[in-house]
Amino acid sequence: MAWVDLRSDTVTQPTAAMRAAMVEAAVGDDVYGEDPTVNALQQRLADDLGFEAGLFVPTGTQSNLIGLMAHCERGDEYIVGADAHTYRWEGGGAAVLGSIQPQPIPQDADGTLPLEKVAAAIKPIDPHFPRTKILALENTWWGRALPLDYLAAARAFTRERGLGLHLDGARLFNAAVACGVPAREITQHFDSVSVCLSKGLGAPVGSVLVGSASLIEKARRWRKVAGGGWRQAGLLAAACTYALNHHIDRLADDHARAARLAEGLAAIPNVKLLGQHTNMVYVDVPVEQLRDLDVHLRARDIRIGIGYTPTLRLVTHLDVDDEGVARTVTAFEAFFAA
Ligand SMILES: *Cc1c(COP(=O)(O)O)cnc(C)c1O
Repeated sequence: MAWVDLRSDTVTQPTAAMRAAMVEAAVGDDVYGEDPTVNALQQRLADDLGFEAGLFVPTGTQSNLIGLMAHCERGDEYIVGADAHTYRWEGGGAAVLGSIQPQPIPQDADGTLPLEKVAAAIKPIDPHFPRTKILALENTWWGRALPLDYLAAARAFTRERGLGLHLDGARLFNAAVACGVPAREITQHFDSVSVCLSKGLGAPVGSVLVGSASLIEKARRWRKVAGGGWRQAGLLAAACTYALNHHIDRLADDHARAARLAEGLAAIPNVKLLGQHTNMVYVDVPVEQLRDLDVHLRARDIRIGIGYTPTLRLVTHLDVDDEGVARTVTAFEAFFAA
């Protein structure tokens, strides 16, 4: 029996067809700008999302970091959600490596940053203050697709206030599929977007930052400084292009499976469904049973991530099929029936 690994959508194995595409990729030295497969991926995603240029990087963390560094100078500030990945889960890189001060603001439950709170956080132009330069949003955020009218309002607001607008779109395509729009309808509102190919899209490695040609030129320099200048990266870019060609529409399957998982778990006494958004299901279980639940599930080849809080995040992806969802619901039922 194969593992049902619900810890994250980063755990997918490259498919046989994806591996074949990797093997066949034409490659060159990307630091010289000579890898045709990397160049094609960068341009393709830039075109698809409505930008001039793109830059292929190893991780979403590096993509967000060099994106922020391309927008900001030392002593500038970015406004960001207090529970945003860029602020909380990237080691404080913008501050540590970019000398960019974060100004966190608590998100609303739907992942939006209330614009009146953003307005109140913008610093006056005065030597006392860091220079507020950019607003960074995240979509999806904890699985939630940000409302399209909010994105338009954030664009109008940042334009009026002279701020840049960056999107951590690690799961941009989940948001697009959930909203039923081409990804471009989301990205049109932003000055730069970071997209992960290694999440639900199923590539083994890789993110792309897209933006204007001048922004991407700056980011290319910071990528080198950050140690991200890589060589025959076309092997990986080929997997990413394969993912874009074959794994976007099927994200709807992940969302449908997450919905079924949520429905199955919600019917179990002791499991409290907090919500299901795109490919993520959040449930609370009694905290004193977490360890035993984990052992029970592992014995049935099911993996979940447990922490110290009652809340579990279960994530569906390319390697979770209908049988995996059914097995998980059955295993939860058996545990809580005992
Ligand atoms: C995964 C993720 C990233 C980037 O993570 P890496 O592991 O560095 O690729 C950025 N933002 C969000 C919201 C993510 O989920």
